[in-house]
Amino acid sequence: MTAEELQSAVGETITADGLGGAKALQLFDDVLSNACISVDHPRYLSFIPAAPTEAATMFDLVVGASSLYGGSWLEGSGAVFAENQALAWLARLAGMPESAAGVFMQGGTVGNLTALVAARDTAARERGGRPARWRVACSSEVHSSIDQAARVMDVDVLEVPVGDDGRLTGDALRAALASDGDGVFAVVATAGTTNVGIIDDLASIAEVAEEFGLWLHVDGAYGLAALAVPEMRGQFVGLERADSFITDPHKWLFAPFDACALIYRDPEKGRRAHTQQAGYLDATMAPADFNPSDYGIHLSRRARGLPFWFSLATYGTDAYAEAVRAGISLAQQAAAEIRSRDSVELVREASLSIVLFRRPGWDRARYFEWSARLLTEEIALVLPTTHRGETVLRFAFVNPRTTIDDVRMILDLLESA
Ligand SMILES: *Cc1c(COP(=O)(O)O)cnc(C)c1O
Repeated sequence: MTAEELQSAVGETITADGLGGAKALQLFDDVLSNACISVDHPRYLSFIPAAPTEAATMFDLVVGASSLYGGSWLEGSGAVFAENQALAWLARLAGMPESAAGVFMQGGTVGNLTALVAARDTAARERGGRPARWRVACSSEVHSSIDQAARVMDVDVLEVPVGDDGRLTGDALRAALASDGDGVFAVVATAGTTNVGIIDDLASIAEVAEEFGLWLHVDGAYGLAALAVPEMRGQFVGLERADSFITDPHKWLFAPFDACALIYRDPEKGRRAHTQQAGYLDATMAPADFNPSDYGIHLSRRARGLPFWFSLATYGTDAYAEAVRAGISLAQQAAAEIRSRDSVELVREASLSIVLFRRPGWDRARYFEWSARLLTEEIALVLPTTHRGETVLRFAFVNPRTTIDDVRMILDLLESA
């Protein structure tokens, strides 16, 4: 709905006397909530969907209703302890040392920015001087949040070309640094690009990062959920050498919006970069305490990792492996289904849980028209994307309740359009 349509349907809701809860809830129920898409619908297959478990969703209510403060150990030790166990599980899967630790933040964008601020702070301390311009190296396929972080930090980006397979490699990074490495303090590798699901060659990148003394940050906002699946871990070799990484439980780890897990190999580097000093905070500053507010660009903090913790604690890590595996397996089945049909073509092999495909002969406008109709008729959300300059269609699967029959139904509709 447009803002004008919503305005005429609900009128002005902010009044001197208040509408009363019943009326306000009725407006939300009858009008406002219907103008929002359920991101966890099994046929919501665009962007990166969400698929929170029942346990996670219910526990989000508990977190919201309990006035928990997740910024400091003093106020939230029980909550922080539980969150830290969930973070430790992720750190162990990544092969990080026992001393690794981190914090749940609002989202991958904030997590990436926070990690890069710690990286620059560390470089400034260790190098004892500042270059004319700081720079961060990353591939052209990196998520837009890295550009955003660079703008916020006022640093430049050294864009390293990727190979035909879309992956950043250590060799390409070395060549770029050797010819033009001034001021580079960090390299960002991606473990599962959002658009395509490509995992950079983390092992060779880690090698080169070490050679040049650079902080290695791995952005796995979407893809690092696949660490939950034992047979996938081989694809992430090299991650264990990173200085920091992120993954978003609200993407493929079955938690509600919003939560990003940021892990530092050496949390002290994060703490040094991010601790806020203020007289009224002194009471929370017992040096031995673990205060989540010290590890990111935030102070007040919802204990936003708790729904993820509760879900993980409730169902266990085997259930997580099975649920993530379901998305990967469905992507393979969908790719096979597309290959078997004459009306559509696979653009590239499925990667993680993402499938790109085209309807030969269609232009951008046809794709957008078809997508819009599918949404208007409340059948599915399948949006076009751009891949190497071409408009194509994209499935991103994270919901274990999405079935191959959902996929067939959408492909049938595409065929008959
Ligand atoms: C989604 C995503 C982000 C941004 O995460 P938000 O939680 O939306 O801020 C960053 N990097 C990658 C690879 C992503 O998929």
